[in-house]
Amino acid sequence: MNAIQISHVGGPDVLKIGDVERPSLNNDQALIDVTVAGVNFIDIYHRSGKYPINLPFIPGVEGVGTIAALGSNSPTDLKAGMRVGWVMASGGYAETAAIPAKTLIPIPEDIKDEDAVALLLQGMTAHYLTRNTFEIKPGDTAVVHSGAGGVGLLLTRYIKALGGRVIATASTEEKRAIAIAAGADLAIGYEGFSEAVKNFTNGIGANVIYDGVGKDTFDQDLLALRRRGTLAVFGAASGQVVPIEIMKISAGSIFLTRPTLADYVAERSELLWRANEVFETFRRGDMQVAIGGRYPLADAASAHMELEARRTTGKLILQVA
Ligand code: NDP
Repeated sequence: MNAIQISHVGGPDVLKIGDVERPSLNNDQALIDVTVAGVNFIDIYHRSGKYPINLPFIPGVEGVGTIAALGSNSPTDLKAGMRVGWVMASGGYAETAAIPAKTLIPIPEDIKDEDAVALLLQGMTAHYLTRNTFEIKPGDTAVVHSGAGGVGLLLTRYIKALGGRVIATASTEEKRAIAIAAGADLAIGYEGFSEAVKNFTNGIGANVIYDGVGKDTFDQDLLALRRRGTLAVFGAASGQVVPIEIMKISAGSIFLTRPTLADYVAERSELLWRANEVFETFRRGDMQVAIGGRYPLADAASAHMELEARRTTGKLILQVA
């Protein structure tokens, strides 16, 4: 089968398409014939060696496709031929992937493959951040960094649907206009953002900051929060936050968390509940999908290059079949 398999970590050029053996199936897995794979920032951490992987490695933690075969321990709601999606299991940059069956999410008939991929990983991330990590209440002010990005746009739409106010940050005018079109009340650059947040909130500060940028924004985040505000550092697009002294979050009694999707979908019941909530939000029109780039599987390297160079907005996908 065709797959992007990397034999050593490095730049986007390690992502080469080749003919590799179709994966075999164990009792806990299902074989999925992949139609669309999601490209996520975590794929860059894997490819570049920032997150540990076992080589050779087929990247891609998210995809949608059809069940070709099921292991004997599969949940009983799954059947061969069903359309399903998954997040947080690797192997998506391939025509067929062996995925733990208990992590498969049935895709409702009215949701297209492409929309499902755009909604699953990034949509469920926006869902858990706004519903569980820090529950947005009407009138809350949230800062969304990288507001025109894949997670950023969905987060913005979620916060608005919950009655919150959004201050989005983004690096270019064009990206800021995209964040505003998605519902952000204010869109600003990163430089001096804490001051802009204070001005917008009459000197009080934001209730919550959702930060997927990490290293470059962390120090200013602490200045932009209100007393007892929450800082959710959920990513590290600019690099990992440097280790901090605990007294740094004492001024203002800040709640600091470093959440990850895996801990919010660990049980199958929670995974299916969260995915269905996201699909329902999409049906209502409160969450819209913005595909920022479609690439053939063979061109995964271009998708990585664009994402890393901050030239993308919305969701990037690989068309596999
Ligand atoms: P995005 O579409 O948001 O792309 C990354 C964006 O980050 C860029 O477009 C850029 O926007 C911004 N950025 C800021 N500094 C840099 C930098 N030095 N290099 C590259 N980009 C930079 O990606 P995703 O939506 O896929 O992911 C966003 C973040 O969320 C990532 O950190 C990812 O790891 C994290 N994530 C975490 C999850 C979790 O559960 N913890 C789940 C899903 C994603 P701009 O040009 O506007 O600055």
